Amino acid sequence: MTIEAKKQIVNLLAEARDLSTEELVRFAIKRFDDKITFATSFGAEDQVVTDILRKVTDKPLIFTLDTGRLPEQTYKVLEQTRRRYGIGITVLFPDSERIEKYVNSYGPNAFYESVELRKECCRIRKIEPLRRYLAGLDAWICGLRSEQSPTRKELARIEYDEAFGLIKINPLADWNTQQVWDYIREHNVPYNTLHDDGFPSIGCEPCTRAILAGEDIRAGRWWWEEPEHKECGLHRKIK
Ligand code: SF4
Repeated sequence: MTIEAKKQIVNLLAEARDLSTEELVRFAIKRFDDKITFATSFGAEDQVVTDILRKVTDKPLIFTLDTGRLPEQTYKVLEQTRRRYGIGITVLFPDSERIEKYVNSYGPNAFYESVELRKECCRIRKIEPLRRYLAGLDAWICGLRSEQSPTRKELARIEYDEAFGLIKINPLADWNTQQVWDYIREHNVPYNTLHDDGFPSIGCEPCTRAILAGEDIRAGRWWWEEPEHKECGLHRKIK
């Protein structure tokens, strides 16, 4: 991180220290205006952020990544969200030539074969479209929470995203699961019905399964891998 970026984070953290979640979102929108965007995958946390964003602004800049391997339930909640909040949601797609090359070289489900092939699939279907979209923006908002996984323990409400070179705002960083679901019920927020079937964290269909009682929240994501590998590169430094 550059010295300027470090200073910016220190200042932002000081300014936002006592802000509530909604105030933090309002602060971020005011500060970054049309240079901030919100990344949603329509999980429970993201739906809470969308609801808050819509209270703060009429025209939130929201986008999602359609990897081509999403479960049907996710498309359903995408449409419900568009209608409920009267907002546009930009859908990003991967480069079709890159997908063709990968699938024709390794097969349609090569992500089960090795961490490298799994990461390559995530790179093509998620990271590359995301990198194209974030270029030119100053900040993005994410629905991450620190208790979601070992890789997110140090999560701050405002941090510098080294991988994409911009500010990252995590308004729900210190929320727990109960708070998320209390908010959803209290505000009648539309949510992905897979959550009712034991999926606390939802990604691509072939890489997500339901979890058992007592399992970690992210145990159903890339369940065949060790916990320290369980990120797709969107939310950690890319090596
Ligand atoms: S989550 Fe699975 S299907 Fe989706 S991009 Fe990553 S490896 Fe590919």
